[in-house]
Amino acid sequence: MGNLIQVLLRRDYEVVGPTVRDGAIVYDRVGSAEDLPVGWTDEQEAGHYRLLPREGQTLFSYSVGPQSWKKYLHPAEVQLCSAQRQGEAFRILNNEPQLKRPFAFLGVRACELAAIAVQDRVLLQDKFRDPIYAQRSADKFIIAAQCTRAAATCFCESMGTGPRVTGGCDLVLTELLGPKGHRFLVKSGSVLGSEVLAELEVSPAEEEDIQQMEVAVREAASRQTRHIDTDGIKELLSQSFDHPRWDNVAQRCLTCANCTMVCPTCFCTTVEDVSDISGDHAERWRRWDSCFTLGFSYIHGGSIRNSGKARYRQWMTHKLASWIDQFGTSGCVGCGRCITWCPVGIDITEEVRAIREGEQNGKS
Ligand code: SF4
Ligand code: SF4
Repeated sequence: MGNLIQVLLRRDYEVVGPTVRDGAIVYDRVGSAEDLPVGWTDEQEAGHYRLLPREGQTLFSYSVGPQSWKKYLHPAEVQLCSAQRQGEAFRILNNEPQLKRPFAFLGVRACELAAIAVQDRVLLQDKFRDPIYAQRSADKFIIAAQCTRAAATCFCESMGTGPRVTGGCDLVLTELLGPKGHRFLVKSGSVLGSEVLAELEVSPAEEEDIQQMEVAVREAASRQTRHIDTDGIKELLSQSFDHPRWDNVAQRCLTCANCTMVCPTCFCTTVEDVSDISGDHAERWRRWDSCFTLGFSYIHGGSIRNSGKARYRQWMTHKLASWIDQFGTSGCVGCGRCITWCPVGIDITEEVRAIREGEQNGKS
């Protein structure tokens, strides 16, 4: 792994990967294999996350943490412009952020590849192309890590996004343990991936290793305990505007917006203007926003989603139904972050099930 990181650094990539900080797996710059979460695993449940040490020197023995790659591609805060007073006028400063080098993302899970594809569709391939996302996304190199275990909150299998990596990356790693020791199976996913692979000391995979990888990935899928039945989900949610379950979830939801902050596909932003106390220097910032804030739906004199019920309904219905109308895919990739990081443990899979069962029982 250290060699791979060195090859990427030599090729002048900004290498970003999983690290351990503040009791969680977070994405940050890495310069060597020692920066990775060596010998850590995680425990996740609704409203619960713990990192735990595990035996062995494994590097990818955990599921997704609170951050996603949107931290780099669609950052939480971006300065759009600034202006400095000059006499009676303001001079607009040319301070468009420029990346020094392209990113190499190390350890991207299958659901996260799906999330990047969802954000690409929204921010690059729609009517309005986001130049900031385009610049940050350009020439990136992606090293995927297939999951060989699933957290209790994962449900990518039912969303058709994982745990098997099927494309959208330059290299695919699978970490293997067993009698032959700790090793990685690596497969190229692009011409550039093959070029990087050629610079590494690798030996051809044995049939036994490929079989072990197949079993491990299949088991990561079969061990998932949460699922969403996506059959007819657009129609189900579109027709459930007055379902009593929205009142039920509203009694629990704090409208804290955590679910949207951790979600790898949520993309909404707001723009804020700030000035220093002298009034000589002004800045315009773009920041993540959320459909859970009151200000998000402020239109012409008031917010149109005043209640927690309206805001949760908007979020879930957009994620799983109207997103399909807008962009042709689901807005959910089944990563489970919104379940783990909801302080009161609201579970999107459970909310869908309750609405579906209510429908079937004629309770809506
Ligand atoms: S569902 Fe949970 S994380 Fe999302 S706004 Fe409500 S309380 Fe916060
Ligand atoms: S809605 Fe929840 S499970 Fe789905 S992609 Fe967003 S954070 Fe992950």
